[in-house]
Amino acid sequence: MRDSCFSDEDLQMRDVAREFAQKEIEPAGRQLDKSYDADLFRDLWKKAAKLGLLGVMVPEHYGGVGGSPVALTLIIEELAAADAGFAVSMSMNWFAQCMLITVGSSAQMEAFLPMISSSDALPAAACATEPQGGSDVESVRRCGPGCISTTYRKKDGGFVINGTKNFITNGGLAGLYLVLATADINAGGAAASTFIVPGDSPGIAVGGIEDKMGIRSSQTAQMIFDDVFVPGENLLGEEWLGLEYVELAMIFSRGAVGGIAVGIARAAFEEALAYARERVQGGRPIIEHQGIGFMLADMAIMVEAGRSMVHRSALASLDFDIEADERFRLSCMAKVFCSDMAMKVTTDAVQILGGYGYTRDYPVEKYMRDVKVTQIFEGPNQVQRVDILERL
Ligand SMILES: Cc1cc2nc3c(=O)[nH]c(=O)nc-3n(C[C@H](O)[C@H](O)[C@H](O)COP(=O)(O)OP(=O)(O)OC[C@H]3O[C@@H](n4cnc5c(N)ncnc54)[C@H](O)[C@@H]3O)c2cc1C
Repeated sequence: MRDSCFSDEDLQMRDVAREFAQKEIEPAGRQLDKSYDADLFRDLWKKAAKLGLLGVMVPEHYGGVGGSPVALTLIIEELAAADAGFAVSMSMNWFAQCMLITVGSSAQMEAFLPMISSSDALPAAACATEPQGGSDVESVRRCGPGCISTTYRKKDGGFVINGTKNFITNGGLAGLYLVLATADINAGGAAASTFIVPGDSPGIAVGGIEDKMGIRSSQTAQMIFDDVFVPGENLLGEEWLGLEYVELAMIFSRGAVGGIAVGIARAAFEEALAYARERVQGGRPIIEHQGIGFMLADMAIMVEAGRSMVHRSALASLDFDIEADERFRLSCMAKVFCSDMAMKVTTDAVQILGGYGYTRDYPVEKYMRDVKVTQIFEGPNQVQRVDILERL
């Protein structure tokens, strides 16, 4: 269906993503789900880079394709419908790019955007979460002293970073880390700044790789920063405004998580619909049993509603006539609604496939495992509801 809010360029990029997702990402994602292989992931990443998918919103003169946030949501749905893990790795790359584009100086964009958007790019990672918490920006702000234990101090015209970050998507693979650290452990989030840390900086180590329930094609690692030095020009924006910058990027990224959830839900719905048309029980295809038919109708309604919320949030994200608080609220709403919706849709898809849905012979069990994390990361849905409530 043609929708007037999409440009021809948006739709062309979606079509490129769809073809790549179906041909390359889906089979590789199945393989990576069974057994992770960093070389296979890197190979896929390079292919995505060559198609221009890494730097969707990055201006052309910094190695990207200069697309819109709407193009990004169309692409993320296609990637996630094929393999959510790959879409998650890609979305964290975009998160880092968003921070650089919205806050970075032109010298920083020139130096770092090509590293994470061009055809030989490595993934980027964003490091906020810590062992004792800290992933949710608002709760870090509320929690105060001791809430961030990763610190920085000034030295030789630059900064020295020390601390441990948990659950870092693309951790260990990344060419660039954006790291949130505080100048004063007693001031916590209020004294937090964000630093651009090249992946080959001395003192960076992988503490461990997570063995996860889903999105197994996306590497998640604990990252240790031990006396890591960055020059002064690697401070992103101004000191002590680190949390504000993360929140700005979340106007895009939480909506993108909604888009990932919509992609997974769509794939689960399509699988369940096809199965329900073929599977015969009680002398007729199960879709003709009203209990199943109504489930499928509800799934279709929910996917469509979620997609509309994601597109609304993407369209609003760059509309500066809308207050930042409202744009943030819309992205939280899209994230919460779509992730809860997709959890229900994928669970129902397993139900519709009956015993077969519970086996690895069909992809619906993978969709159900993959989607769970969308209710948890980028701030769990309980905390998002707090964020939304505060902005009503
Ligand atoms: C696969 C994966 C990838 C990730 N990638 C990244 C990444 O790239 N970068 C990064 O920085 N982080 C990343 N994270 C971290 C993720 O954002 C956090 O795990 C998430 O925000 C939850 O934080 P937590 O695990 O500390 O849970 P907690 O904050 O301890 O929450 C535990 C439970 O308590 C609830 N809760 C907490 N506070 C409240 C409250 N105020 N009111 C009501 N309920 C509350 C939560 O909803 C949750 O159910 C990733 C996590 C996973 C699993």
